[in-house]
Amino acid sequence: MKKCLECGTAHQGADWGCPSCGAQPAMRGGFLSFAPDSDGSEEGFDPSVFETLARIESGSFWFAARNRLIKWALAKHFPDAKTVFEAGCGTGFALSGIQQSFPNIKVSGADLFARGLEFAAGRLSPGTELYQMDAARIPFKDEFDVVCSLDSLEHIKDDEGALRGMFEAVRPGGGLVCSVPQHPWLWSEFDEQSRHERRYAARELKQKVERAGFSVVFSTSFMALLFPAMLASRMVWKLKPGRAATSEFKSGLLNSALGAAAAAEASAIMAGARFPFGGSLLVVAKKTIPCS
Ligand SMILES: [Zn+2]
Repeated sequence: MKKCLECGTAHQGADWGCPSCGAQPAMRGGFLSFAPDSDGSEEGFDPSVFETLARIESGSFWFAARNRLIKWALAKHFPDAKTVFEAGCGTGFALSGIQQSFPNIKVSGADLFARGLEFAAGRLSPGTELYQMDAARIPFKDEFDVVCSLDSLEHIKDDEGALRGMFEAVRPGGGLVCSVPQHPWLWSEFDEQSRHERRYAARELKQKVERAGFSVVFSTSFMALLFPAMLASRMVWKLKPGRAATSEFKSGLLNSALGAAAAAEASAIMAGARFPFGGSLLVVAKKTIPCS
């Protein structure tokens, strides 16, 4: 169902006009806009980063390995999913991977930044629904089989508010696929440049996901094989602040070697291996059907 952000009424209307209060979301830059007063540049993300991201994503082992894991988690935990919504879809790299691998799933996405959505619109099939919105105010209730939040919660001050909104947007019986940067002690200039609010301990993310109402059914660290390189770059950074801001996303020369390692790691996770540490954390959770 659609949910009016003005009065809270949930409705099945074909269009977005609220049958109760008449509120109608604006269109901006070609997208339905639910947070027209915010382009998010005041917090969370530097919009110019989308140009860089769009350029490096498709050649980056990091994004390729993450896409494989996300698609595996979707197929394993939500084999009957027909609808997937990504909150914070950025340039749409993950969403287009899902769309290509699962032609029967109707995907849609949202981001605070219209700039990201423009790239996403170019990557996704024509007609894919994309919305400009604040992840803390999602205008859906009991709507999607799966909501994905992929490396976006760490940008949001009120991450728990966003998780509650995602919980509301998922239909009972559906669930959440969530990835975040892991280990607060790995905090570095990379996180500052990326305007992260935090990196997560596994326990913290699981607690927040469960407080929003979900039940965690699976979690693993990933990018564990990248760990020594990340540690080394942090140590250099602590010795010489301002230097060696090695991004996890663009490790240049190392890309193909790390790509093989990350692919091997993804295969190991799919075969049942779990890593206790790693630069990233993946959590899958379900919204149980209430007993009546
Ligand atoms: Zn209304």
